[in-house]
Amino acid sequence: MRTQVVIIGSGPSGLLLGQLLTNAGIDNVILERASRDYVLGRVRAGVLEEGMVDLLDRVGAGERMHAEGLPHQGISLAFDGRDHRIDLHALTGKRVMVYGQTEVTRDLMDRREQTGATSLYQATEVAPCDFAGERPYVTYRKDGVSHRIDCDFIAGCDGFHGISRKSLPDGALQTFEKVYPFGWLGILADVPPVSHELVYANHPRGFALCSMRSTTRSRYYIQCALDERIDDWSDDRFYDELRARLPAEHAQAMVTGPSFEKSIAPLRSFVAEPMRFGRLFLVGDAAHIVPPTGAKGLNLAASDVHYLFEGLNEFYRDRTKAGIEAYSDRALKRIWKAERFSWSMTMLLHRFPGTGAFEQKIQHAELDYLIGSTSASAALAENYVGLPY
Ligand SMILES: Cc1cc2nc3c(=O)[nH]c(=O)nc-3n(C[C@H](O)[C@H](O)[C@H](O)COP(=O)(O)OP(=O)(O)OC[C@H]3O[C@@H](n4cnc5c(N)ncnc54)[C@H](O)[C@@H]3O)c2cc1C
Repeated sequence: MRTQVVIIGSGPSGLLLGQLLTNAGIDNVILERASRDYVLGRVRAGVLEEGMVDLLDRVGAGERMHAEGLPHQGISLAFDGRDHRIDLHALTGKRVMVYGQTEVTRDLMDRREQTGATSLYQATEVAPCDFAGERPYVTYRKDGVSHRIDCDFIAGCDGFHGISRKSLPDGALQTFEKVYPFGWLGILADVPPVSHELVYANHPRGFALCSMRSTTRSRYYIQCALDERIDDWSDDRFYDELRARLPAEHAQAMVTGPSFEKSIAPLRSFVAEPMRFGRLFLVGDAAHIVPPTGAKGLNLAASDVHYLFEGLNEFYRDRTKAGIEAYSDRALKRIWKAERFSWSMTMLLHRFPGTGAFEQKIQHAELDYLIGSTSASAALAENYVGLPY
């Protein structure tokens, strides 16, 4: 088989890139290790920047998001027993859209099916080959049979644990990493959220986040130790701990109900540079991870896709390599700013093992400054809604 671009991974990066290419008449094939249902069953991000919303509209996958998603104009920082609203829209003129990653993925998969582009699920032993030269190809196995696809380019959209980054020769990448000494215990439950906007809470017992997927489905998180066991956290224990970390107005208003998803996610900052090696590109989580405190992971995947699509489109349309050669530098500039923001929100809102009275006072001083200074609120808001592409 031959195509122009082989995309490894059918997560949001792979699907969005595939759709932009298909719409531009650039032939592409997506190879995905898991089944379609498995990919759709993963509960992950839920806050979309306007850049991501625009890209979904542009590829024709935004209709359901506009009908069912929740545009948010602000967030709350909760500390010292009170809620302090940051008015994102007043400060930046922009909003964020609350719409689950699962729904984004479903909409992109449906759109891909409508346009007849090829996705091969349950493709195992996927291997990008000869990408340092002019004639790369990808091999894989499906239903016990080995296959090969020849192509012009390979897009590694296969997440943090994928094969693309691991296929690069030793020494090709420089990596930067920070692992945080705690995780987030999260639940999903069909109960109305405590607030119509997200609440980020700094509390002596640890961080908490009240997020949502809809007006009837809540996504709640509490900071936890990395060695916590899910089985030790009944729903009642989770809600008691969450209430203890929230201002009284939210704790009292909280509606509880059985969770249908409960998981612990470790927190990590990670960047691999550069994001291009010959004709192989790393995109999204394959190249970088942020702690979810800034709601940036999915949105960074979208900006990578934007830069890569521009480069590939210019290559096929104008026969210039300038865009693909600039891809890594352009993407990394934005990535490092989002890494900084996600790290700073994580440092500001969590209890670290070494957090003593002094560090708590510093956190409070910074929170107080953020809500009291228009410039500081605007800087937070500008980063939260997403820096321009
Ligand atoms: C538990 C969790 C919670 C998160 N919460 C948030 C959040 O609240 N906010 C936020 O902004 N971000 C969050 N994120 C991050 C966000 O989900 C990711 O940034 C986003 O999924 C990145 O998209 P991607 O397409 O680059 O990678 P992925 O979504 O990881 O997709 C990669 C795809 O590649 C496939 N694949 C992997 N290896 C291979 C292979 N060898 N061959 C073929 N296919 C392969 C995988 O099966 C997968 O479908 C969370 C992530 C996790 C794990």
